[in-house]
Amino acid sequence: MVRSFDVAVVGAGPAGSTAARVVAEKGFKTLVFDRRSTIGIPIQCGELIPIPSEAANLFPRSKIMPNAVHVPKKFITNKTTSIRLVSPNGAAFEFPFEANIVDRGAFDQYLAHRAEDAGAELLLSTKLVHRSNMNELFLKSRNSKSDASAKVVIGADGAHSEVAQSLGNHYTHREHDLSPSLQFVMENTDIDPSVVEMYFGGSIAPGGYSWIIPKGDGNVNVGFGMRRVLAKDETPLRTYLERFVYRNPHVAPMLKNARILSRIGAIIPVGGPLQRTWSSNVVLVGDAAGHVMASNGGGIPTALCGGTIAGDSVSDHIVAGTPLSQYEKTWKDEFGLELDTALRVLRIADMVMPSDSVTDICMRLAGVRFLEPLIRCRLPPLVDFASKTLVKVITQFM
Ligand SMILES: Cc1cc2nc3c(=O)[nH]c(=O)nc-3n(C[C@H](O)[C@H](O)[C@H](O)COP(=O)(O)OP(=O)(O)OC[C@H]3O[C@@H](n4cnc5c(N)ncnc54)[C@H](O)[C@@H]3O)c2cc1C
Repeated sequence: MVRSFDVAVVGAGPAGSTAARVVAEKGFKTLVFDRRSTIGIPIQCGELIPIPSEAANLFPRSKIMPNAVHVPKKFITNKTTSIRLVSPNGAAFEFPFEANIVDRGAFDQYLAHRAEDAGAELLLSTKLVHRSNMNELFLKSRNSKSDASAKVVIGADGAHSEVAQSLGNHYTHREHDLSPSLQFVMENTDIDPSVVEMYFGGSIAPGGYSWIIPKGDGNVNVGFGMRRVLAKDETPLRTYLERFVYRNPHVAPMLKNARILSRIGAIIPVGGPLQRTWSSNVVLVGDAAGHVMASNGGGIPTALCGGTIAGDSVSDHIVAGTPLSQYEKTWKDEFGLELDTALRVLRIADMVMPSDSVTDICMRLAGVRFLEPLIRCRLPPLVDFASKTLVKVITQFM
């Protein structure tokens, strides 16, 4: 039997659950489903979400963002007050940055239950196998087949989005824009609980960085993301992370008594937003749309904000026939510029980072005054001017 819905949301991560709640609150018959048997588990995340005022600073044109990133107290395990950037030779650059470190599993479950409370039907262990152009959804669940159809589908199914693939090639991420990541959750560490650390260098994390995010009570998320195309050899991901944890001269002493509680691996899309994030009956949101700050891999704020925009735009489409292109216009107005800038920062870093010595010199020359804006998805005026000029010169000769 095929069940019909106004809206079907594929994926109950932060983007999907938020979008499902918004449309369900407006009274639409809504289905949200996820292939996982428990929402948010396994946790594949550093669990850092900027506090609302910090998010407002990151995305100054966004009206929605500060509310979107609000996390109820009971899901916050720690609060950090600064970020420290560390060069390959150990020079440290620290600046204030306030963030909530959250229990991501519990937070994702809370978001999904809010969608359910608003009237959405939530199905677990249910995977989208195929979507037809008419929005017929072929689903596979553990015990049964439960196909569905919907006026609009919201694709919130992450970096390898099946919904995006069903729309065609230019809706998907290119392989070299995907950053494989690995993370250990560790206990009994000697880490400053108020500081998030980011370590750079080609030998540490080519095309990415390693992070230490304090979860509170001596527990930390220690992880790294890289890009294979920028690596010198085929060194396995696990070797990079073990080298960082046990042999990095600045990190190893802080983790010498620590024990690994769990290991996770996942993919972060860092190629910037997809060329197009909508069709006549679909919108893509969150990682599925490439809504990740390419320079730091953070995607929870844009997933939450984009989910709200997707919910509103889809509602307007069903009620008043507003074209779904409005969704793309709105997210671009809200956070498009910052995502573009983050991508430019990554491209500049790609030229420098493969070499440890060049990375070290550049970071020391730049200093905190230039490095801080880069982390905040902003280009310092001089770099902005230089990178625009460089792009102009290159395009003239192409
Ligand atoms: C190691 C790591 C650390 C990170 N740390 C941070 C951080 O500290 N802060 C930050 O802001 N961001 C971080 N990110 C990025 C962040 O986790 C994502 O940007 C965010 O989860 C995006 O939310 P989403 O809802 O779009 O996708 P997801 O959270 O990935 O949710 C997608 C959901 O879709 C489901 N799904 C996929 N395919 C199907 C299918 N075919 N059928 C049904 N369901 C499907 C999945 O099971 C999943 O539940 C990190 C990412 C990684 C990998």
